[in-house]
Amino acid sequence: MDCIFCKIAAGEIPSHKVYDDGLVMAFLDIAPVNPGHVLVVPKEHFSSLLEMPDDLLCRLAQTARKIAPAVLEAVGAKDFNLSLNDGEAAGQVVKHFHWHLMPRFKGDGHELWHGRAYGPGEAESLLAKIKENMPE
Ligand code: 5GP
Ligand code: ZN
Repeated sequence: MDCIFCKIAAGEIPSHKVYDDGLVMAFLDIAPVNPGHVLVVPKEHFSSLLEMPDDLLCRLAQTARKIAPAVLEAVGAKDFNLSLNDGEAAGQVVKHFHWHLMPRFKGDGHELWHGRAYGPGEAESLLAKIKENMPE
């Protein structure tokens, strides 16, 4: 498969590897938002969170939590974002599931989203639709 993160996972493309347990790996992002910006990925290819097996997803979450303190300590941060771009419209460029673990500093200039309020009744009707589709 022509996937850059599969190639990194297989060691065919070099990376600054932070962690590797055979199932999950983490490496420095090549264009970090802040120093210490790490990508946490399954070594096997899945493109979306929705495709990830439960046990692997758990392991990914455990890994992110395990490595975060070391990464934060190394760059002198105490706060971080753990974020996922899932799908093209959400900004996913590399179609191999990955979490961005990004150390954050006060006033580092990186913005989050700008929210908007729901209109009258909009939240209620949306909630009803979501509940119709919710699995048991
Ligand atoms: P996405 O937009 O898909 O959520 O994020 C992809 C991330 O992968 C970007 O932050 C980008 O800098 C990083 N990236 C893309 N190609 C490479 C690469 O070859 N090596 C590393 N280490 N990071 C990469
Ligand atoms: Zn892949």
